[in-house]
Amino acid sequence: MTEPVVGIHPGASNPITLPLLSTETLDIVSAGSQYTRIEKTIRVAEIEESYRFLDVCVDENPLKINCSACDKCMRTMLTLEIAGKLERYSMVFDLDTYRKNRDFFIEEVLQSNDSYLLKEIADFIVMSGFIVPLSSRLFLRTRLDHIKSTVKNTTNLPNEIVQEITRKWLKNI
Ligand SMILES: [Zn+2]
Repeated sequence: MTEPVVGIHPGASNPITLPLLSTETLDIVSAGSQYTRIEKTIRVAEIEESYRFLDVCVDENPLKINCSACDKCMRTMLTLEIAGKLERYSMVFDLDTYRKNRDFFIEEVLQSNDSYLLKEIADFIVMSGFIVPLSSRLFLRTRLDHIKSTVKNTTNLPNEIVQEITRKWLKNI
């Protein structure tokens, strides 16, 4: 079994596979690999044309550019919201559909331990000081209490150490 190259995700377009799509008359190259997805999204949000043409969705509905409900749409819209730029995209996203699913999605982002895509957004939430909706905060508190009791029940650590461990965990969300 071969190991994946660090930073290259199987199934996604990447600097190794993209040039293979080039023809004699068309060069296809990967650009911007020095930026995270968050940074790329924020940079794109400075391009006015993107407000009418940004198309991130995997859904194939010909009537809409973006479904505004799939994971890709939700990740992009939440990133734009945290960056304070979501309203610019009311022509390509259905913001009402987004708002209906938003709090639940934020919960999903904050509780995800295995998705690098969601972890990146969770870090952005923490670093930006974005105000997490009450329902998601309640979830965090429940999760934190659960972790505290698990740590307490499986170790004989003093309370201060348990507090320290859970505080560190919270920081890493
Ligand atoms: Zn979509």
